[in-house]
Amino acid sequence: MTELNLISAVDAAIPAEPFICRHLIAGEWRDSASGETYDRMSPAHGCLVSRAALGAEADAEAAIVAAREAFDSGVWSRISGKERATILLRVADLIEGNVERMALLETLESGKPISQSRAEVSGAADLWRYAASLARTMHGDSHNTLGPDMLGVVVKDPIGVVSMITPWNFPFWILSQKLPFALAAGCTTVIKPSELTPSTTVMLGELLFEAGMPAGVVNIVLGYGASVGSVMTTHEAVDMVTFTGSTAVGKAISAAASSTLKKVALELGGKNPQVVFPDADIESAADAITFGVYFNTGQCCNSSSRIIVHEDIVDEVVERVVELSKRVAFGDPLDPRTQVGAIISVQHQGKIDDYVRAAVTEGAEIALGGGPMTVPGLEGQFYQPTVVRGVSPEMAIAREEVFGPVLSVLTFRTMDEAVALTNDASYGLSAGVWSENVHTCLEFSTRAQAGTVWTNTWMDGFPELSFGGVKQSGQGREIGRYGLEEFFEIKTLVMRIGRTREPWVRPE
Ligand code: NDP
Repeated sequence: MTELNLISAVDAAIPAEPFICRHLIAGEWRDSASGETYDRMSPAHGCLVSRAALGAEADAEAAIVAAREAFDSGVWSRISGKERATILLRVADLIEGNVERMALLETLESGKPISQSRAEVSGAADLWRYAASLARTMHGDSHNTLGPDMLGVVVKDPIGVVSMITPWNFPFWILSQKLPFALAAGCTTVIKPSELTPSTTVMLGELLFEAGMPAGVVNIVLGYGASVGSVMTTHEAVDMVTFTGSTAVGKAISAAASSTLKKVALELGGKNPQVVFPDADIESAADAITFGVYFNTGQCCNSSSRIIVHEDIVDEVVERVVELSKRVAFGDPLDPRTQVGAIISVQHQGKIDDYVRAAVTEGAEIALGGGPMTVPGLEGQFYQPTVVRGVSPEMAIAREEVFGPVLSVLTFRTMDEAVALTNDASYGLSAGVWSENVHTCLEFSTRAQAGTVWTNTWMDGFPELSFGGVKQSGQGREIGRYGLEEFFEIKTLVMRIGRTREPWVRPE
């Protein structure tokens, strides 16, 4: 194996007992109606992390009924923005006070580095604060230009009961991209985290109690998509589904929700290119490419898993990325120095490796890595930082979400070719451009089909800036003002001033 910066197992305190996760339904912690549970083992350490109630249709049904009753009672949907904001701000403070506890569970369940879990949990508190500010400042429109005797008012009502289905790659961050915004709008919710990472969602449930959230406003059901998730996407009492995960499941959810015409917001996959022009600052671009592909072990919808580099500089860029890749700290997620941790499951590791093997069979070359690796002292699954050259646009590794620490390198000669390669994808989540020429950056940014385009940077995000994809990367937006708007139903009020209306029926 190529020489890498490997961090061996550290002597860190892993809790002796598993964290117990129960459903949160109508303000009570409940076991499953069936009494069944399931265990989550750490993908890096092989130890038991959590034991969760295994929900099924009956548990999902009870949670939906609780959310419906809470919504219709007005206990949350009809209170003032100030009252909602007060609770959301308390939640933000409580999240900050529990960073260490939550980050440890997030790391043990997902295999991501502890420094990253800490940053994600504390960063999520800022999403709750920003959503609180929107709860007080959102408003509709008024129209007094309709004639002297008319007034039109467009109000924004909370859409109702929202099902939230979240994945394992950023369990707490993705939940915080959805939940505080839905709550700011006045909605009630049923949440299903991935069965691989239930703990921080349950911990948040505890914090919501402490913050004074009324019973039934936020409900959590644990278990699998096929049983719990399918009820959450088809039930008559649910008004909207918001989902983050794979495009395949997003399509299935969209089809399931169509029988009751629920609104569906989808944040799906991406095949996000960073495009490097010959005049780019290569040192910065190489660093951002290294970050873009290995962050969260590449298990990231925004992973920059392909780069499109001008052919005059491709050798220099690849050489630099390979050098930097060898310096990235891969290994025990509990060591604060670690930058890249474990792969979420054995099956997923196999899927990543299949993409790499298929590319090699089709003629691509491995410039670095290219297979699983062991980390001294750990039982879990890890994959080497991998750079694949000579990739052609029709190969699966260039078109599909690999969701691992694997970079594909493609080349271009002209702006038209760079744009064509960027847009030759079923996805359209994000893209990036590297050039010192503002016209090059602007032309690329305006022609790239993507929900976000970064210029001379990668993956910077802020609560104020909305996020989402075009094409098969999804529909709807999260965070920012547009993220809040998703959770509204628009209602128009038309009012006549005085008794000026001409009768429709002619007087006898
Ligand atoms: P999925 O899309 O299968 O799962 C995401 C969530 O949806 C989980 O909570 C899952 O439940 C739930 N779910 C699954 N099927 C249904 C259904 N029919 N109805 C309602 N909910 C459902 O992602 P995976 O975890 O299986 O990962 C597979 C691939 O998806 C990855 O390799 C990656 O390519 C992509 N992915 C993309 C993400 C992104 O951020 N864009 C995030 C995660 C994955 P459960 O798993 O508990 O059964």
